[in-house]
Amino acid sequence: MSPPVDQVQSDPKLPEAADVVVIGGGIAGVSAAWHLAGKGHSVALIEKGVIAGEQSSRNWGWCRQQNRDERELPLIKYSLDLWGRLSEEIGADVSFRRTGLIYTTDQQSDLDEWEEWSNLAREYQVHSRMLTAEEANALTPGCTKKWIGGVHSPTDGRAEPSKAAPALAEAARRRGVTIHQGCAARGLETKGGRVSAVVTEKGTIRTQAVLLAGGAWSSMFCRSLGIDLPQAGARSTAFSTTEAPEVTAGGLSTPGFVIRRRLDGGYTVSIRGRGLVELTPQGLRYARKFWPAFQKRRAGGVKISIGRSFLEGPEALGRWSADKPTPFERIRVFDPAPDTGTVDEALKQLVEAYPALAGIKMKNAWGGWIDFMPDAVPVISPVEKLPGLTLSTGFSGHGFGIGPGAGRLAADLVAGDAPIVDPTPFRYKRLIDGSPLPPGPM
Ligand SMILES: Cc1cc2nc3c(=O)[nH]c(=O)nc-3n(C[C@H](O)[C@H](O)[C@H](O)COP(=O)(O)OP(=O)(O)OC[C@H]3O[C@@H](n4cnc5c(N)ncnc54)[C@H](O)[C@@H]3O)c2cc1C
Repeated sequence: MSPPVDQVQSDPKLPEAADVVVIGGGIAGVSAAWHLAGKGHSVALIEKGVIAGEQSSRNWGWCRQQNRDERELPLIKYSLDLWGRLSEEIGADVSFRRTGLIYTTDQQSDLDEWEEWSNLAREYQVHSRMLTAEEANALTPGCTKKWIGGVHSPTDGRAEPSKAAPALAEAARRRGVTIHQGCAARGLETKGGRVSAVVTEKGTIRTQAVLLAGGAWSSMFCRSLGIDLPQAGARSTAFSTTEAPEVTAGGLSTPGFVIRRRLDGGYTVSIRGRGLVELTPQGLRYARKFWPAFQKRRAGGVKISIGRSFLEGPEALGRWSADKPTPFERIRVFDPAPDTGTVDEALKQLVEAYPALAGIKMKNAWGGWIDFMPDAVPVISPVEKLPGLTLSTGFSGHGFGIGPGAGRLAADLVAGDAPIVDPTPFRYKRLIDGSPLPPGPM
């Protein structure tokens, strides 16, 4: 069942024109809309379902620099800084808490990987510290497992996925952004080779600039425009628990379970690296590009199968004309089923590790469709082939924490302003010009 998400008010009337139309009301789209309005642009945000109905409300809520790909470090540093002052800036609680995040392990291979990453942390002045066995055990009081070490990032934090993007969307509305939920973008119109309008199910909005932040649906939308966007999905599972004593204030990742303390006094729980790659027409189209990443993730617990997503969902075949309902309207909120095996296993491991949590129950379990790029780095970039179109998508399982910063970078690129960080690592062209696409860390 979908996790609950705060409701955002919709604007009743679609504007005839806007400086920028943002397609997609997840954290990437909402944040970009907020930044664009702050720069003085008129913005309409189009969402086929509800704000944060898909990945942005289904994630673990970790906002981390720890173990990030080097290419994302400048942007995540900006993003974490922004998270820290966002509530004050928007005048509402965006739910971020700088609690720190802890990874512990009983496996030497994890420590080797984290140690290697620590060199990067030093280079980029990211606050992160390798833990000895003694320190890892001391940082997890009440835990019966014995760790051989870990890593701690005290300036990382957590936020509530049910609240963050909705709070930012309301803030964007206060800046004048119009928000249109239950309103799918069906396609784009062009004039003289550049974007001239967005066609939605509720009418057409004239615009010279479109930001596509459609999460897992972005590749399908691009395909209808003749634009190749290699993107693939994996089904993942998480669940919330009943209220329980606090064993960690932030997030704790161990080989058997991952937990994040929630504002409601429970936890969001999952297992790291677990996921299901379902064979889909889109997945098969881009299989060659994703093979190195798939092999790496398979070792971490990602499995492959065939299911309903072959025929329906963001990676199915889809053709439509702009005057008829599209696949985006058929699935307003994509709500994949959770894997009950993952839920049972994570809960068992959690209670075994923390006797103080005996009696804790699963409250609500959900699935989420994570959209990946072949190198696990997002695309935040104009598309040269279609002037006026910019992409912000492919956040590869870690877009929530970087979302506020990604919105700023996308807004800079759309507005033609000096970008907040070097956008080169996020360029679209790398995906289609034969550049090497080494898969980043999980
Ligand atoms: C189980 C799980 C755990 C995760 N844990 C973390 C974590 O701890 N930390 C972290 O940083 N990240 C995490 N992530 C990843 C993170 O949730 C995503 O990277 C991020 O939310 C992506 O945001 P988005 O705005 O790009 O996409 P989404 O939130 O998916 O939003 C895209 C929106 O676009 C809309 N849309 C699509 N097509 C159209 C159209 N044609 N017209 C109108 N609207 C359209 C969709 O309805 C959707 O609402 C996790 C993800 C999952 C599933």
